[in-house]
Formats: sequence, structure tokens, C-alpha cells
Amino acid sequence: MSIVPTEEACHLMPDSRRKVLVVGAGLCGLAIATTAARRGFDVLCVGDGRPGASLANFGQLHSGAVLAPVLPDVAEACWQYRNDWPDELLRPALVGEPHGYALFAETEAVHTYRTAWQHIGIDVEEISPDRSPARAAHPPAAAAFRIPDFSVNLDILHARTRAFAHDCGVSLLSQRRTTLRRNQETTLVTVPDLSDSPALVVLAAGADTPDLLARAGIAHTLRQRRIAWSRHAGARPDALTYWLDGDLLAISPDHADARVGLPSVNGEYGTDEIEYARIRAALVRRGLHRSDADLSLQWGTVCEPVTTRAAPTSFVADLRDPPAGWSRAPNLVVAVPGKWTTAWHCAERVVNALEQERQLS
Ligand SMILES: Cc1cc2nc3c(=O)[nH]c(=O)nc-3n(C[C@H](O)[C@H](O)[C@H](O)COP(=O)(O)OP(=O)(O)OC[C@H]3O[C@@H](n4cnc5c(N)ncnc54)[C@H](O)[C@@H]3O)c2cc1C
Repeated sequence: MSIVPTEEACHLMPDSRRKVLVVGAGLCGLAIATTAARRGFDVLCVGDGRPGASLANFGQLHSGAVLAPVLPDVAEACWQYRNDWPDELLRPALVGEPHGYALFAETEAVHTYRTAWQHIGIDVEEISPDRSPARAAHPPAAAAFRIPDFSVNLDILHARTRAFAHDCGVSLLSQRRTTLRRNQETTLVTVPDLSDSPALVVLAAGADTPDLLARAGIAHTLRQRRIAWSRHAGARPDALTYWLDGDLLAISPDHADARVGLPSVNGEYGTDEIEYARIRAALVRRGLHRSDADLSLQWGTVCEPVTTRAAPTSFVADLRDPPAGWSRAPNLVVAVPGKWTTAWHCAERVVNALEQERQLS
């Protein structure tokens, strides 16, 4: 995708421009707003100024390498759609090396991963463990691979994505918390906080999406889920590193420290004490723990569909034709990206839905 907004791309059909309101100015809301503006819509994107998941996550641009044997559909979507991120936004946000490392404590699981990588076509190179961040680990890795994942500085990525949206003609309101209302008779959604109600509304409010829908009286099948992780102060690694056998420890470089994460157990995380102890033990096991004072537990929240695993990296509900369990609302589209890695793909799907609406009207 070119970052340079052209006349042609940003100002299509000015007479027929329909007003679109995007609620939420995280990476997904901004990607949707930008894509809609580039396709000729008159777009207002409203954020409430709070940092959502887009400003507080692991900052990993996933290639799918880590997920390939366990969640092949998610892995394939990451591999296919991460390139939708414009280089001009990603490159200045890069932290550490422009690739990551997949490490194995033992060689047993290597074959399974190698087969899955080959199946999807993920570009992976086996290297000597001595050339990887495993040099610092005890015991050292038995096998190491260079994988096309890397870490970004989320503040830089978000600021540049916001500036890009503005350059593409998106009007941005950054300190406005909006509410939605659904008219019982017409089933149309209105936005009481705005004087000029838009023709179409896209809800991209991250973890707040289920609450906003519920307060508007719109039935849905979304839920919030909390994710535990840790900051490891003063231990900034050179590159994003995953240990793929055993506990699946992930370590991402950030400004000055490391973001350390473990997968959930049966889809859920435990108490503060349990999660702190799990992460601490994973670092101790590899000789990477510095001191308890350097390790602090953090929590993030994601929004996700309760049941479906159909499109796990971007769930889009077009309420003209609502999915099972959802109310009808003919001018509302709900977007849940799953990963910021696939935000532009999610945006593409949302704007395709908006364009269908424009053709019908
Ligand atoms: C701990 C953690 C780690 C993760 N790691 C990764 C990773 O490494 N790689 C990856 O690709 N994905 C990762 N994810 C997922 C990724 O962060 C999210 O999928 C993505 O950031 C969601 O973007 P969003 O724009 O939909 O939501 P958000 O970034 O949450 O943005 C929604 C915005 O809407 C605002 N808002 C809410 N209500 C209103 C309202 N009424 N009016 C106006 N504004 C409102 C919120 O304050 C927020 O600013 C992670 C998530 C978590 C929680």
C-alpha cells in the first residue's frame, strides 16, 4: 500500500460521499477510517483519548510462524495480511532486529513446526543456536530459527497511523466518548453525542465494544477476555524471541525493557499471583530472570467472539444481515480485529461492507 494519499485515492466521487462515523481510534479504527476515506467516504473517527489494546500489547508483528502448528488458520491470515501494513508506518516503529527467533530447548518439536511452516510457506531459516539470543539462556537452545516476526514501538506506530489517517482526509476527534442508541422501530443506530448524525456507523471500540452494544440494546455474541503479561525492566533483548517447546515463552524488546508473555491455560489466565509466578518461573528456567523488583505484572483486555473461530483474526458483523445472536441495525458494522497485525485486512472487509450499502442506497 502506498502511503502517499493521492487526489484519486482520497477524493473519489465528492458529490456522492456518504458520512461514516468510526467509533474508536485504535489501530483498527484508524485503519478502517483511512481505508474508507481513500475509497471516497466522508469519515469522522472519534476516540476517547484512552489507550486501548493498540497502545498496550506485545507489539509483535506476527508472521504466523509461532501459531502455524496449533492455529493454522490464524497463522495463514497473519502471513497473508501482515504485508497490508504500509512499510512507511512500520519501519520507523521497529524495535530491535527486523526479524525474530524461534528457539527449541529440545529438538523433538522441530519437525512439527518445520512441516507447518512449509505448508503455509512462511519464510524461516535455521541458524546455529550460538547466533541467536539463546546465547544468554541456560541451558542453551538445542535448535534455533530466524523467523519473519519483529517488535514495534506502539506509540510510534499509533502516532504515524493517526497522521496517515489525517493526511488521507479523515476528520479526527480525540477526546470524545460517544454512545450509540438503537431506535426500536426503525432499528437504525444514532449517536446522541454528535449534532450531525452519520449515515453509517462503524464500531471499533476494542474491549469496550460489548458494553457499548449492550447499552444501545443490541444483542451480540462478543466477550471481553483479560490477558496477563509482564514488563522485565532493564532487560531489553536485541530481538523478538519465542521458545516454541514447553511453555511458549515470548520475549519482545520495547523502549528500554522487555515485554514477557505466556499463553493462557485452557483459554483463561489466573490471579495476579498465579500469572506472576508462571512468568517468573519461565524466566528462571532459562536463566533469564534478573530480580523480582524488575518484573512487574500487567493486564490487557481483548474483545473476541464467544463462539466462532471462523475468522479469528478479523471478526466483522454487518448488522444489515446480522449473524446469529445479533440484533439487526441496518447502518451499523462492528469490527474486532483479533490482532493489530491484521488490522488493514479487517478494514478492507469493513469498507467492502460499507460499499455494498452505498450501492444499495
Ligand atoms: C496483552 C495483549 C497483547 C497483544 N499482543 C498483540 C501482538 O503482539 N500482536 C498483535 O497483532 N496483536 C496483539 N494483541 C491484539 C491487539 O492489541 C488488538 O487486536 C488491537 O490492538 C485492537 O485494536 P482496536 O483498534 O480494535 O482496539 P483498541 O486499540 O482497544 O482501540 C479502541 C479505542 O476505542 C476507544 N473507545 C472505547 N469506547 C469508546 C467510545 N465510547 N467513544 C470513543 N472511543 C471509545 C478506546 O478507549 C480505545 O482507545 C494483543 C492484545 C493484548 C490485550
